[in-house]
Amino acid sequence: MKKIKVLVAAITVFILIFVSAFAAASYKLYVEGKLISSVKTLESKGNVYVTLADFFKLKGFSLSYDSKSKSILVKKAKDTYQFYVDKAYYYYNKNKKNLSAKIFVSGGKSYILVKDIASIFGYSCYIDKTKKLVNLNVNKPKTATLPSKQSQQKNTLASRNGLPKGAQDPIYITDIKYSVESGKFVLNISATKNVSFKDYKLSNPDRIVLDISNSIDNVQNNKIEINKGGIFRLRHAQNKDTNGSLFTRIVIDYDSTLIKDYKVTNLGSQIKIEIELPINLPVYTNVDSSEDFQNQDAQNSTITPSPVYVIQKIDIIPSDGFTVAQLDVFPTVVSDIYRADQSFIVLNLKGAQASSQLSNFYQVNDSKVDYYVVSNVDQNNVQIVFSSKAKVFVLNKLDGKLEVVFADQYSSLKVNPPSSLVLSSPFVSQINYFYDQSSNTIRLESQYPITIADDVYSLQGSVVTTVYSVYQQDKCIVYIQINPNYIANISKGGNNITISFSQKLQKPQKRLKIFIDPGHGGSDPGAIYTKVVDGKKVTYNEKDFNLDISLRLREKLKSLGYEVYMSRDKDVYVDLYDRTRMANSLNADLFISIHNNAIDNSSVRGTMVLYKEKQQNGLISDKQFAQIVLESIVKQVGTQNKGIVERPNLAVLRTSNMPAVLVEVAFGTNPQDLDLLLSDSFKDAVAKAIADAVEYINENYNK
Ligand SMILES: [Zn+2]
Repeated sequence: MKKIKVLVAAITVFILIFVSAFAAASYKLYVEGKLISSVKTLESKGNVYVTLADFFKLKGFSLSYDSKSKSILVKKAKDTYQFYVDKAYYYYNKNKKNLSAKIFVSGGKSYILVKDIASIFGYSCYIDKTKKLVNLNVNKPKTATLPSKQSQQKNTLASRNGLPKGAQDPIYITDIKYSVESGKFVLNISATKNVSFKDYKLSNPDRIVLDISNSIDNVQNNKIEINKGGIFRLRHAQNKDTNGSLFTRIVIDYDSTLIKDYKVTNLGSQIKIEIELPINLPVYTNVDSSEDFQNQDAQNSTITPSPVYVIQKIDIIPSDGFTVAQLDVFPTVVSDIYRADQSFIVLNLKGAQASSQLSNFYQVNDSKVDYYVVSNVDQNNVQIVFSSKAKVFVLNKLDGKLEVVFADQYSSLKVNPPSSLVLSSPFVSQINYFYDQSSNTIRLESQYPITIADDVYSLQGSVVTTVYSVYQQDKCIVYIQINPNYIANISKGGNNITISFSQKLQKPQKRLKIFIDPGHGGSDPGAIYTKVVDGKKVTYNEKDFNLDISLRLREKLKSLGYEVYMSRDKDVYVDLYDRTRMANSLNADLFISIHNNAIDNSSVRGTMVLYKEKQQNGLISDKQFAQIVLESIVKQVGTQNKGIVERPNLAVLRTSNMPAVLVEVAFGTNPQDLDLLLSDSFKDAVAKAIADAVEYINENYNK
């Protein structure tokens, strides 16, 4: 660590030498935010000078030079200054005053140290030697060293310029502390003065909301995850009501199944919220994290502090409607932003440091931002102060980027209770919206910022999945990803775009009409199979196996919601042509004939599906149907695959108007297959496999 420091010091020394030895280039001079070209600058021995006469001319003075006394007389109304070449003093209305450096002449012009001219005119002076610029500004605040938060509060209280008309002196929220102990969650909110507030519950998601009137939220860490005893998290943020009055909103997200009620006590400048928790929990408090560190350090010196993100650069991206200041940061960096007074917006970043490469003053000269000042408050905190009179500023975080957006016009996206969204805008006609139904995403586009109210994020997890904004060169885009179970309805009216959500109706899918034809029956037994049981020959009829499997199939299809018909559901004879006539007149979608096979060779076994390819303009080809059914059985039941076979002359296949298959489940002439046919679980599995094939066709072909 020490080595690095030495190296940094060496580099710094080198830069200083480099700058003073070779400084020839002139500086850019900004006075009160304006680039001044009429005044020349000169760098000498590490100091920056300006041409004295030009500067006073700029300020409206008239000049005369006396070569005898080498003095310069400068006058405007009652103000008279007298300067002397090679002297480090001057007279102001005959009072002698000292200068930090002598006036000197170079190239026929007299030069004065820029710091001296700044103090004469009461300017703050900032010099950036790497960027070669000098900034003189009205002396508030002092650049680079900014007042601490406490003194800033005093300044702000004194000036009050940033507050809306009619507002009283603001109250600052200075501390938000919670504790969990003895089955109780206690939240203490401290303010600089007596507070008035309103508290209420909101649902979806469940939360307790406390709005503190006329107050400025000066507490860092806007979101604290608690996740204890039914309290999810604590959030707080600066808000503005419709009259433009500032208020602080504190939100407690909680689990309503565990927590029923809360109690609020107003103790003048303090507010106490108490919530009884269902479980007795160990003591837990959010003591200040810096104290935490110190304590840990004291206890254990090997503990390494959490990583501090080093900010390398700040990009300023201007466009017509707004200006964006963009920084790359870790998501671990905690940010808060507030307006300190009429012309300054303060961004605090906890867990970050500004790189020494980053200029601590930068002149922006944009219509929204004049300049910004970066200062490392301590080893864990950076403060960036933007000199900006922009009417609105938005803190936008996205993918490791943090953006501060400055603008004079904006629209705001809010919750329209209970769960609609409303975008209110004075220029609603210029806002475009797009709803992509396939991705269920809404895109709102505006040339001005769209602010997203806190409540909108609370809808995440219910009707919307995510809401975020992206600032591009010339427009602000808000993306709203809708929960897949909802659809959005967008309407424009007055100054509003309203987005409401309704639950997607489960499209009642029309299910196929299935005709099952158990082969043979009654006087027609089909194939006859034999088996020797206990020395006796037992015979089985194919027709019975066919009916058994068919009845099981009917049950399975019915339970899946299909409309099912059968050519027979008992042991009766039905003519082949009557079977297809029935199916055709019912307008069935699929015809499934169930048979079992027979062959002389008792070693042949397995499943075969027969079909006849007919002219179809409908659901599925006969062949595809056969293939799907065969594969389903072979895969699920494990019978031998005897393939699909085209049998164009079979009556039921030929005369049916719909895709038809004839399933030869197994060979009853094979002892193993016969045993299978005698088992209920086999017949059940076959029925299920065929039902699954139907389900597959219904889902993939029934469009
Ligand atoms: Zn048969």
